[in-house]
Amino acid sequence: MTGSTKYIFVTGGVTSSLGKGIVSASLAKLLQARGFTVTIQKLDPYINIDPGTLNPYEHGECYVTEDGAETDLDLGHYERFLDVHTSQANNVTTGRIYQNVINKERQGDYLGKTVQVVPHITDEIKRNIQALGRKGIYDFVITEVGGTVGDIESLPYVEAIRQLKWEKGRDALSIHLTLLPYLSTSGELKTKPTQHSVKELLSLGVQPDILVCRTEHPMQKGMKEKIALFCNVLPTAVIESADAETIYDVPLLMQDEKLDLVVLEKLGITNFPEADLTHWKDFLRRFKEPKHHVSIGLVGKYVELHDAYKSIKEALDHAGAANETRVEVKWVHSEKLTPKNIQKQLGGLNGILVAPGFGHRGIEGKIEAIKFARENAIPFLGICLGMQCAVIDFARNVLGLEGANSTEMDADSPAPVIDMMEEQKAKSGKGGTMRLGAYPCKLTAGSNAAIAYGKTSISERHRHRYEFNGKYLAAFTKGGMEATGINPQTTLVEVVELKDHPWFVGVQFHPEYRSTVATPHPLFIAFTAQALKQAERKVSEKA
Ligand code: GLN
Repeated sequence: MTGSTKYIFVTGGVTSSLGKGIVSASLAKLLQARGFTVTIQKLDPYINIDPGTLNPYEHGECYVTEDGAETDLDLGHYERFLDVHTSQANNVTTGRIYQNVINKERQGDYLGKTVQVVPHITDEIKRNIQALGRKGIYDFVITEVGGTVGDIESLPYVEAIRQLKWEKGRDALSIHLTLLPYLSTSGELKTKPTQHSVKELLSLGVQPDILVCRTEHPMQKGMKEKIALFCNVLPTAVIESADAETIYDVPLLMQDEKLDLVVLEKLGITNFPEADLTHWKDFLRRFKEPKHHVSIGLVGKYVELHDAYKSIKEALDHAGAANETRVEVKWVHSEKLTPKNIQKQLGGLNGILVAPGFGHRGIEGKIEAIKFARENAIPFLGICLGMQCAVIDFARNVLGLEGANSTEMDADSPAPVIDMMEEQKAKSGKGGTMRLGAYPCKLTAGSNAAIAYGKTSISERHRHRYEFNGKYLAAFTKGGMEATGINPQTTLVEVVELKDHPWFVGVQFHPEYRSTVATPHPLFIAFTAQALKQAERKVSEKA
């Protein structure tokens, strides 16, 4: 597209958790399918500099970008939908905005002026929104504001949107997401909360151009007209967003509602091709009509909270679709796993995935799960802490190193097979200080990892402080656990594999962050394929 970048602001009203991230990603997908370049940004109104220091109970998974930013999990959806990398610039928090402004104040950049929310904080917000547009590579920048309109903490963001809409004129529009609650007693959807939410937005000076109304029941006749009348929008700009079977159906539902066309029309864009969603639809077909089925145990300590493992679950779904296989995830609580119940808990599974994590809680259960996978020839994928636990299991139970552990769990372990990285030892603060982002890795030709990737030079994202302790490498290799992936610069162990096992792979990095609908991750594809093989072996053994 020629001309200036267009800005689309997405706010939410009535309640939180309406799925602004998925609606934003779906709109972006529809625009991308018409040949436009799009990026999506999330503005989070909390004071933390980034979600890296938040525990998963607070904020779900922390998603890591190529450039090592610890970000909101919505960025995972953006990447999975668009197959385009995001960066630090795609996630900005109030903490970061204030930090920047305060740093500038200390440097004397404000030339003796009183520093205020308006204009200094709002200017910093506007600068962060436009920073993506200024790159000159995007036709559209979609900016999603976290939280709900009316919250005290989101006020500066709405003010920044008001100013930008005024400055940009036809190059900007705003979409407001609301909920139409259903009253079962009267069997009706109600529009009043939407009207009130729009009023709230209007009181802050922002007239939404498009309303996306989330609803669990089909909208009744005349409802769009009614909302349009009260909220100063066209009936065609009232978009019904019904509950979808899967998040990957949402772009198609939004296409049926012509969301992209309304956006293009409002921004004065008249010349555009038909949307090409062939690949997306093909993925959906394979995802929803699988030919096979496998059951994979996801072992972690936050399993009651599926959002904590969002990218892993999505990566399994992508890989399942690639193998025309339904991947049923059994969520296994690592704290509740014992040698006594392990057969019952894990015996029926076709694959075991041990999740990333921090701290001591649940670690012994993870090690038990790995031992079970190792001894019963069950395909295994260990990610980050999951890989480190595989190393601990092997040290304790195969090499006979009593008390083997990670120094994260036991600082005085007699066999510290996982130890803090040298570069980490000098670091005192917790925010943004881990080994983060993409690093290269060299794989051993012929290893399961190299076969999965189809190459030996790869790059993957990281988020950790501890590493395989190189002092033990020779003993492990001799014992049958090999380091098949090494960082070429630092020689840090990135991948371990078992020799005498059908498929046992532990990775220090996080492959899940790189899996997208368009490019399912090779390790997850291989793991799922192995689980399928295991399922077939089981059937033939029974016969
Ligand atoms: N706690 C481990 C470390 O810091 C693993 C981290 C993770 O699983 N992301 O090295």
